[in-house]
Formats: sequence, C-alpha cells, structure tokens
Amino acid sequence: MPRIAYVNGRYVPHAHAQVGIEDRGYQFADGVYDVVPIVKGTFIDEDWHWDRLERGLAELRIDQPVSRKALTMIARRIAKMNMIENGIVYVQVTRGEAPRDHKFPAKPVPPAMVVTGRHLKMPDDLAKPQMIDVITGPDQRWARPDIKSISLLPNVLAKQAAAEANAYETWLVNERNEVTEGSSANAWIVRRDPESGRVILKTHQSDQAILKGIVRTALVALAEKHQWSIDETPFTVDELMSADEAFQSSSGNMIRPVRSVNGSTIGSGETGPVTQEILNAFADHIASQCS
Ligand code: PLP
Repeated sequence: MPRIAYVNGRYVPHAHAQVGIEDRGYQFADGVYDVVPIVKGTFIDEDWHWDRLERGLAELRIDQPVSRKALTMIARRIAKMNMIENGIVYVQVTRGEAPRDHKFPAKPVPPAMVVTGRHLKMPDDLAKPQMIDVITGPDQRWARPDIKSISLLPNVLAKQAAAEANAYETWLVNERNEVTEGSSANAWIVRRDPESGRVILKTHQSDQAILKGIVRTALVALAEKHQWSIDETPFTVDELMSADEAFQSSSGNMIRPVRSVNGSTIGSGETGPVTQEILNAFADHIASQCS
C-alpha cells in the first residue's frame, strides 16, 4: 500500500509529495512542527500537541493554516490512509512560499502545511522499554528552543555525535554545566536524599531554554496524582553522573531509562524502581486513552 501525505490541501502519494523551492521552511527553516504519537490507533494527549503547535505559530506570527477541527480531521485521515496502528503523525507548518527575502513577505502568502504518518514499532509492553546509552555535548541551539521550530541543525549534530559514539542520545549541557534536555527528548534524573531518604525527580524547568515536552507535561500531571516530588530546576552533569536513576521522555520514544552516560553506568545500570513506577503509571495513562 503506498504511503500518502497531505500537502497544502491535497492527499498525494508520499513518494511524489513536493513543496516549492521557495517555501520559507526550505529557505529559512521558517516554521514549526509537531509529532503526535498514535498507540493502538489512538492519538495520545492530542490536544496538548495542537496547543503547542498553535502557540509556536503565534510566537512566530504565522497564521494557522486550517482550524483545529480541520487539522484533527486531516491528521486522522492521514493515520487512516496509512493504516497506522502504532506510530506518529508529523505536522509541519511554514510561513509559505514567497521570493527569497529574509523579512516576512510584504504581500501575505498562505502558510504551507504538510502532514505525514509513520509506523513505529512499539515495545510489546510499554512499561518495559529498552534502556539507552547517552552522551553529553554542548547545547548550541538558539535562545528559544521552547518553540518547536523546524530549525534543528544543532539537534541533528548532537544526535549524530551520539550515533558516532554508539549511544542513543546526546543530553545537551549549557555554559553552567547544567543539562537542559536531550537533542529530541526531555532529560530527567532521580535522586534519593541521603538524609531523609526522600525521592526527588529532577528536570529542567519549562522556560525558554527547553522544549516543554508533552510526555514531560503528562509526567508532571501524573506526579501530582502519585505524589512524586518533582524539582523543576536544572541538574548539573556531576549530579547526573551520581544520580540513582535517569530517564528521558518524548512522544516518539515515550520513556527510556538511561543505562550509562559518557560510558559510566548510572545507578545499578538496570531500570531503577522509581523509573519503573513512572513507566507503569505512564503506560496506564496511555492505556486509559486507548479504547
Ligand atoms: N525536547 C526536544 C528538543 C524535542 O525535540 C522533543 C521531541 O521531539 C522533546 C523534548 C520531547 O517532547 P515531546 O514529549 O512533546 O515529544
């Protein structure tokens, strides 16, 4: 069955889907995107993804190409036409096509929208994912990674560095030696206070320095329900190396426990008990949305 993509109002075979060379996304990375996970045919935490996409468009002063209702229908149709049971829908919106000039087109052009779907293999048990190895590297991104911009060159280079080090992900480190997030995931550590024995989850606060991940948002909400303590402040590389557990979160890969960082084992090198509790709660969170 051929893959189908949505491009500016038309459903076309993926292999022949095209945008013009003067699309401002192609010329300037002048656009935003989002990725909605699909599990057992269900869009997970869908509204939060559309909220983020709309916020990014507003930040960049790009008009919404279609209403949310229409976007929901297009995304559903792409999932259906591509028979996606488990996978993702990818939505990209750019400022549109206009003669190359840095400033916004004087004569407004309609924004361009592309929607594609992709099958992903999910682990049989979402609460038992494979562990990953991580490296650290400099956070070389622009000052607004809270906007899910299609300008991903530093993320591309960081992910490539991980691949070349036989690792899965690079966690990005700022000039204060703090981990901001991964190249395509939010970064978390688990620490047990040696005196009180209290368990604390640490992840960078959702300010302009990180992308406020949707899985991160779900975990913050679950924390309240399960009475986990979350400290939304940055952790340093030293704290990471001595953490009891670490994991990352993203819509494409859900929650992935970290086995090692820069070749050094984190905690026991196995999925820790707190991460397992979080995995179980997140798997329930997904299951509760799947009919
Ligand atoms: N941080 C970055 C830089 C990302 O690219 C992503 C996902 O692509 C995330 C965090 C996780 O976001 P989400 O949970 O919405 O997938």
